[in-house]
Amino acid sequence: MLVVNLVCRRGHAFEGWFRSSDEVTSQISQELVSCPLCGDPQVSRMPSAPHVARKSATTQDTGPAASPDAQRARELWLALRGLAAGAENVGERFADEARRIHYEEAPRRRIRGKASLDQAHELLDEGIAVLPLPGVADEDLDS
Ligand SMILES: [Zn+2]
Repeated sequence: MLVVNLVCRRGHAFEGWFRSSDEVTSQISQELVSCPLCGDPQVSRMPSAPHVARKSATTQDTGPAASPDAQRARELWLALRGLAAGAENVGERFADEARRIHYEEAPRRRIRGKASLDQAHELLDEGIAVLPLPGVADEDLDS
């Protein structure tokens, strides 16, 4: 038995039970499967659960649907966040300060701050390690 996540044109998500994956394709194309909520016979397959979990993963997402990959990504994110929380906030001066530290014009320490994508690329080109930390607000780290 195969359980497949389906979605109708109105966006209702539901599970369909099939004997084989061939049957999924043929039953859907012959419109033999209809939405249990609105009866729409034009349904399509949704990506399997782990993909959905990855795409919709948020910082609060600790639900049982989290795949091992999502779990690993979250652990990595938490580790980065921990690093950033212990770093000195240099704000807009991030790119300058990162350079000064790299060229030993400033004390060696961990810093965080704001950099544009171009600035981050320039730093990486110069061999300076920078990491993006998406979805983290300064307020989170300063508290
Ligand atoms: Zn529907």
